[in-house]
Amino acid sequence: MLAGVKELKSFNGGIHPPFDGKSLSKNKEITQAPLPEVAYLYMSQHIGVPAKPVVAKGDVVKKGQKIGEAPALVSAHIHATVAGKVTDITFKPHPVTGARTQVVVIQREGDDEWAPGLDEPQDVEAMSPDDIRNLIREAGTVGLGGAAFPTHVKLSPPKDKKVDAVILNGAECEPYLTCDYRLLMEKTKEVIEGLKIIMKCLGCKNAYVGIEANKPDAYDKVRSAVGEDPHIKVELLEVKYPQGAEHQLIKAILGREFKPTQLPIEAGAVVHNVSTTYAIYEAVKYKRPLIQRVVSITGDGVENPNNLLVRIGTPIEPLLKAARLKEDANKVIYGGPLMGIAQPSIADAVTVKGTGGLLVMRNAGEWQSRACIRCGKCVDACPYGLNPSLLSILCESEHFQQAMEFNLMECKECGCCTYVCTSRRPIVHLIKTAKYELARQKARAQEAQKAKEAQKAQAAPAVTATAPK
Ligand code: SF4
Ligand code: SF4
Repeated sequence: MLAGVKELKSFNGGIHPPFDGKSLSKNKEITQAPLPEVAYLYMSQHIGVPAKPVVAKGDVVKKGQKIGEAPALVSAHIHATVAGKVTDITFKPHPVTGARTQVVVIQREGDDEWAPGLDEPQDVEAMSPDDIRNLIREAGTVGLGGAAFPTHVKLSPPKDKKVDAVILNGAECEPYLTCDYRLLMEKTKEVIEGLKIIMKCLGCKNAYVGIEANKPDAYDKVRSAVGEDPHIKVELLEVKYPQGAEHQLIKAILGREFKPTQLPIEAGAVVHNVSTTYAIYEAVKYKRPLIQRVVSITGDGVENPNNLLVRIGTPIEPLLKAARLKEDANKVIYGGPLMGIAQPSIADAVTVKGTGGLLVMRNAGEWQSRACIRCGKCVDACPYGLNPSLLSILCESEHFQQAMEFNLMECKECGCCTYVCTSRRPIVHLIKTAKYELARQKARAQEAQKAKEAQKAQAAPAVTATAPK
């Protein structure tokens, strides 16, 4: 325990992986990755409606120029991450969702120059909350912890909800990843400035920084950057997964609970992680769109794990080769081992806004799953109080409606149950598949209903108005 720290804040459930893999890259300073020769920019890198391309094949673009316009509130703009020429607008499978998604392809050309009006210091003091929100929206900022929820929406709480606490999530509880830790170590002042910008935008006087106890140096740095500010408290958290999830962080720091299906605003809180807060600082202080982010390239499948500042849309193959990919590496995961998405191939994969890590593994074999022996370990581990054993059995046997009755939709897919399962059951996979199937059934039912209504409207005799005699 650090001097002056009386207790580590925590929550119920969760897991303690014995090896968190962070030592592989935690001491590697952030370095700029080589710029991609060709950048592939997905029009959907966020939760919400995909952006619409506002460039055409053959257009010449500058770095930071908007190339995709958000057509709805819950959406985000997409910007050119390199200067060059648009060589194609096509569709490709998305590295996270797998869905075919529109992509703008830019061949890098010319100097790495910002588009006019960008990269200029701004007077934050003189800004109103709306000015801040607009700059963040214009920058295409989204949550960089993986969920990629548009940040301007998170900073626009409904008028009847009160925010009395902003939490900077410095837990980075996902094993292996160190991108947020490096930003806390190397850009401490900027991240705290970003936190103050969020407080100003929300008109919130109090903020908390939550850091897991395995990062004592980051805790010290943040405390000294915060100084004597009485409105920002820095809290040390127990090293436990998923300490950085919003529900667990709010419970640990504020002692407040809310339903898994509700948003943090119900508990009067707004949570942003370190990478997002740094992106907010860049967007508001310097009018720099989100064109790059720190990515941890790590795991036992590379000889030189590192933390790189990578332009969004960069193909991952050269990044992995630069980290000296081992010959027997046989699995690449976007993100960490618990919530990450395994890639079927590295040949076509590129980074997106939510890519905080590329975890490369050797000897990652298939495992044999067995029947549930009702040991109850998954029930103890579930931080949301669900019964993952029962859910997995119901999902496996396609009793989806019954699974819904046992709160299927409250599952946050954290992976704790799968991690502890004695029978190595693919619990999260079964749950995700069931949710996907339910969403598909719902979409089909809606389409069928629409078609029925259209048929009915066609069949009904036309009503013509007659003038009164
Ligand atoms: S994946 Fe879902 S069911 Fe499993 S522990 Fe996490 S929240 Fe609970
Ligand atoms: S941990 Fe696995 S074996 Fe044990 S109850 Fe849960 S699903 Fe069944």
